[in-house]
Amino acid sequence: MPRPSLLARLAQSTHERAQSSLLRRLRTIEHAEGPWLESGGRRLLGFCGNDYLGLAQHPLVIAAFKRTADDEGVGSTAAHLICGHRAEHAALEEALADWTGRERAALFSTGYLANLGVMQALLRAGDMCVQDKLNHACLLDGAALAGAQLKRYPHNDVDGAARQLASRAEAGALLATDGIFSMDGDLAPLRELARLCEQEDATLMVDDAHGLGVLGDNGAGTLSMLDLGQRDVPVLMATLGKALGCHGAFVAGSANLVEGLLQSARTYVYTTAMPPAVAAAALAAVRIARAESWRREKLAALIRRFRDGAQQLGLPLMPSDTAIQPLLLGEATTAMAAAGALEAVGFLVGAIRPPTVPAGKARLRITLSAAHEEEHVDQLLEALSGLAPDEAGSPPL
Ligand SMILES: *Cc1c(COP(=O)(O)O)cnc(C)c1O
Repeated sequence: MPRPSLLARLAQSTHERAQSSLLRRLRTIEHAEGPWLESGGRRLLGFCGNDYLGLAQHPLVIAAFKRTADDEGVGSTAAHLICGHRAEHAALEEALADWTGRERAALFSTGYLANLGVMQALLRAGDMCVQDKLNHACLLDGAALAGAQLKRYPHNDVDGAARQLASRAEAGALLATDGIFSMDGDLAPLRELARLCEQEDATLMVDDAHGLGVLGDNGAGTLSMLDLGQRDVPVLMATLGKALGCHGAFVAGSANLVEGLLQSARTYVYTTAMPPAVAAAALAAVRIARAESWRREKLAALIRRFRDGAQQLGLPLMPSDTAIQPLLLGEATTAMAAAGALEAVGFLVGAIRPPTVPAGKARLRITLSAAHEEEHVDQLLEALSGLAPDEAGSPPL
């Protein structure tokens, strides 16, 4: 047999994607200003970013970034354990641990790396990693990289998770779930999962990428909202690139956990620490997110406004109370057509297709932010109501 050409095979899979309307396209944003995005010379109102509190362009966040870049330069120049761990990183880790009510926190350069690192540090061959079917891709990849047996359960099905854990009662077990699901916006049954993990001696890990800043007292996240402490959820991961409007991620938990990650998480040890200016900006963002509850209240009011309006229009809302408000359209081509029609009238919304979501569950992933105003939501609803029914005569969308 001749050796296959890897590049020809890749080109073939790209071609197949294009055939199925699944081609991913890169869009260049020329300028961003609050929720407004300029692309292709047009000004579009964006409902696709994850800057839920509107902090990405906050003057104090920008000022902290600039000041630190002026004083310390751009790159951290090394991994944390060499000489990349600066005072800005240390201060941010302390603030994150304090905010989330954990003993200690460790920064990672991205959320993807954080999840890979935690799982690789905790899991060994022969262990099992039990995960919700709709978990973020990097949690699934983390289990695979760690060499653990990946066992998935139907979305938010606590009994399903229990069956998976019971299937190998002797194996070391990590149960990992998104706190808020990134493409659906709904909440994991965390209290029930925490109880299950306690009964089964499994370790619970929650990825709160979309909850931190948005939910809970002072925005401390989904676990804080549900009053789940470090004993209930020993491994908390969240990102700095969403509601905090910056970049990077962290894992928080016991001093033991964090010390272990420093020793063993390869994506912590073998990568350059995030720029100190980014850490300083994130610390400014944490302070604002903690203090300014009005941002969460404004966001919650916009979410209610959107859902009420969408309901009146008969739009296919999903059961989500969070900033992620998908409209379930079904076929990839339908989602693409809807996103295209919205763009034609000045709105940028992500069309999410397989394999990011299951086949037949393509959707518009509409995200709201405290940077939006009521009139922006109303304009979006009006644009959505104006989308024409398709040839088959089904209702709008
Ligand atoms: C965005 C996201 C990540 C990845 O974080 P990055 O910092 O963007 O790499 C991980 N988990 C979830 C649930 C996410 O939504």
